Amino acid sequence: MLETVRYTYRLRPGRAAQAELLAEWGRCRWLWNEAVHQQRTGRRPTFSKLSKLLTEVRAHNDWLRAGSQVAEQQTLRTYAIALKHSFTVKGRRRPRAKRLKTARPSLEYTTRGFRMRDGRLCLPNKVTVPVVWSRDLPSAPSSVRVYRDNLGHWYASFVVRRKVTSIPDADLIGIGIDWGVRTTATTTDPRFDLPHLGHRKRCAAERAKAQRRMTRRRRPAGVAPSKGYLAAKRQAARIEKRAARQNTHDARAWAKRVVDHHALIAIEDFKPAFLAKSRMARKAADAAIGACKRELINRGKRAGRKVVLVPPAYTTMTCSQCATRTKERLGLGIRVFDCAACGYTADRDVNAARTILATAERNRAGADDIRHAIASLRDGGSDAVRAGNLSGRPERAAPT
Ligand SMILES: [Zn+2]
Repeated sequence: MLETVRYTYRLRPGRAAQAELLAEWGRCRWLWNEAVHQQRTGRRPTFSKLSKLLTEVRAHNDWLRAGSQVAEQQTLRTYAIALKHSFTVKGRRRPRAKRLKTARPSLEYTTRGFRMRDGRLCLPNKVTVPVVWSRDLPSAPSSVRVYRDNLGHWYASFVVRRKVTSIPDADLIGIGIDWGVRTTATTTDPRFDLPHLGHRKRCAAERAKAQRRMTRRRRPAGVAPSKGYLAAKRQAARIEKRAARQNTHDARAWAKRVVDHHALIAIEDFKPAFLAKSRMARKAADAAIGACKRELINRGKRAGRKVVLVPPAYTTMTCSQCATRTKERLGLGIRVFDCAACGYTADRDVNAARTILATAERNRAGADDIRHAIASLRDGGSDAVRAGNLSGRPERAAPT
């Protein structure tokens, strides 16, 4: 069996290649913004309409014709899909204009638009970029996205097909997962608990120092920023990125461990957005619950595990032994759950995790309360795969 995944590599473009990539991005950005303008005038442009327009415009516009048609078409395709999703997917916003100062360059090429030669990525207009091959590609890529991050580093993300590696058969047991701020994930098996990640907090002092340096070096509005200011800004971004990467790495390692050892994975369908408005916002963001959840769902599905999302309502108030619901909400300060009906006592989060698992196992709550991860369209990642494939777009896949 084959699966579609993304393999990402660092690129080392030279000065000329970088200028060429940015010029390409400029044309694609212009096209995107033109499409957004069309949408403002009340029309709802589809990809086929935009594609026709592109052919017309390219016929008498030398500037656009100088660029790669593949990259330009892919930009419009991405736009058309984003527009369609803004009408069909709840909570998705209309695509907005990409500003020169804030939008990050991102170019997409299908097989028609790129080649590999001598370990280099060859793009249209004779752009060749050395790739840092941190690992081998499992197969010939079907598309590539070339992008630059906020540190100015370029990456190439290839879509490839690879063999599903056989994961050791799980011990056919289930695990329930309850998300939290104090402990990021409390599970029914304490060996699989995920402690609060908090790498951002760990390097907060270092980042604050870089930010103070930025403040000292800041010039008044309207004056070009100094080299020192830009250096301090890059430093702050680098620290931030490192912490984010460490959080991601820990989340992935944990998700892999959970998926390897369990057949049924019952996950609290937690919406981290509400925490963002609370006083725990910073700590909650640092826990990266959303990323952990996404990672777990994607990995579980790829490994063929049964992944069940359980609505979070009443999970902390329900006894995992007798299913009796307490009359009042448990305040956040109360860490121990006490059942008045059967006398069962457990840590509040452990009880919640057990209730989540029991809900998924026994289907006790009724079909309406349990939502299979597959049916959900909002949880990003691999669901985008299906939406993308239906519309003929190059396959999107979860990063590995
Ligand atoms: Zn009870």
